[in-house]
Amino acid sequence: MAVFLVYRDKAATPGDARVGTLQERLVREFSGLGAAMDRLLKVCPEDPYDDVVAQIVMPGWHRGRVTLVGDACGAVSLLAGQGGSLAIAGATLLGEVLGPVTSPQGISPALDVFEQRWRHVVEVAQTSGRRAAATFLPAGRAQRFLRRWVIRAANVPGIDRLVARQILRTIAK
Ligand SMILES: Cc1cc2nc3c(=O)[nH]c(=O)nc-3n(C[C@H](O)[C@H](O)[C@H](O)COP(=O)(O)OP(=O)(O)OC[C@H]3O[C@@H](n4cnc5c(N)ncnc54)[C@H](O)[C@@H]3O)c2cc1C
Repeated sequence: MAVFLVYRDKAATPGDARVGTLQERLVREFSGLGAAMDRLLKVCPEDPYDDVVAQIVMPGWHRGRVTLVGDACGAVSLLAGQGGSLAIAGATLLGEVLGPVTSPQGISPALDVFEQRWRHVVEVAQTSGRRAAATFLPAGRAQRFLRRWVIRAANVPGIDRLVARQILRTIAK
């Protein structure tokens, strides 16, 4: 991958129709941001990977003996950067709670246990993903300005340590 572009898509708002081809959308969002960006848009491949950054929030994960797992019940979005790990760890927990089950009647209660133990972990990651989205893609000028100054201030000795500590505290939450 050479370039990773993310933007807030106003067309994703209900009622708004998506306008134009993917290439036209990229030009609309990113042209004029500098010579390097304009050159990149010119060499953009015909069919680049294009996706919506979104989360899945389900009120319930299972019905009877059928359950959703991984992204299907709790996609955290690529901005959270943990979807793969959560899918694997969640599948491991599912195996652990189903392992001791010895009758078909035991499956549904085991799936309840799975959801009780795993939902909170997924929700914490989703909250972190939403927070990352707000920082990664500031919603307006004021937030963009603030982010630029925080990034600049992070180079100042002393403040750099404070910022690093804050980031570590946020990750550990
Ligand atoms: C661009 C991008 C970048 C990402 N970066 C990261 C990252 O850096 N770190 C990280 O941890 N996570 C990342 N993720 C998230 C991660 O990829 C997902 O959270 C993870 O793959 C979810 O695993 P899953 O098994 O739930 O679903 P998937 O990996 O989507 O697996 C579902 C499978 O089911 C198959 N399938 C669908 N329908 C059917 C059907 N009807 N019959 C049979 N098979 C079917 C699909 O083909 C697919 O193989 C990223 C995601 C994206 C989109």
